[in-house]
Amino acid sequence: FRVNMTPIRDQQGTDLGVVTLIQDITRLVEVNDLKSEFVSTVSHEFRTPLTSMTMAIGLLKDQTENQQTPDQQELLNALEEDTQRLTRLVTELLDLSRIESGKVQMNLEACLVDELVTYSMKPLLVQLKEKRITYTCQIADQIPMARADKAKIAWVLNNLVSNAMRYVPDDGTGVIEIKAKEAVNHIIIEVADNGKGIPEEYQKVIFDKFFQVHDQHEVGGGAGLGLAICKEIVKAHGGEIWVESGPDKGSVFYFTLRISSS
Ligand code: ADP
Repeated sequence: FRVNMTPIRDQQGTDLGVVTLIQDITRLVEVNDLKSEFVSTVSHEFRTPLTSMTMAIGLLKDQTENQQTPDQQELLNALEEDTQRLTRLVTELLDLSRIESGKVQMNLEACLVDELVTYSMKPLLVQLKEKRITYTCQIADQIPMARADKAKIAWVLNNLVSNAMRYVPDDGTGVIEIKAKEAVNHIIIEVADNGKGIPEEYQKVIFDKFFQVHDQHEVGGGAGLGLAICKEIVKAHGGEIWVESGPDKGSVFYFTLRISSS
């Protein structure tokens, strides 16, 4: 059952009572389970042929390297790009449906925040340099250890920074900053950029599945699942994720983690 309680107050704010709505959501849960199972099965079935296609395209490109006409070359590149996009979509769909169904175990342990950030950023440092993006990191002194699944939080940070990299200016003035500080009972980690920004009306819904603000063909993004996965991972840690932004003001993504008691 889902229980929803709404207080009723008069104009002075005096409590008059409470409206309680009790809904039987058994059917809804059943339909949701079926949907997750369907998505999971379909994505899984797509993975094997996609792997073969990726390999075949690679082989074809290598073996015919100096014999392709410009048209053939263009076709092969388009095929390769589309296969990569589809592979990413299928992998993300599978990840999301697994997390949503509670099948993914979070290995929560005490983590040093600066180690967590260094570990997450390592795979992105070369790309940041190539794109001439300034990256800085500021971890508050004496910040307590976080209770986190290192690999999953690394995925979140990696995804937030990869997104930021797509929207910051590409003329050498792009800036991405990671900050971490302690707040009441939790740690706040933020990823700030000086990119395009996100209009206010979209700031809540960008965490929904398939939601995209900008044209992904233009910026080389995915299918609008990255932030939905981030949200599920942070939720499974008992934290929250949100964004503050404005058009042309850049964006700041925040998420919280619990403090480790050990
Ligand atoms: P995608 O795979 O499309 O990047 P995400 O779920 O990661 O999906 O992001 C959803 C949408 O939110 C993106 O398509 C983009 O429009 C917007 N977005 C995400 N991060 C940023 C950012 N740092 N700056 C501007 N827009 C962003």
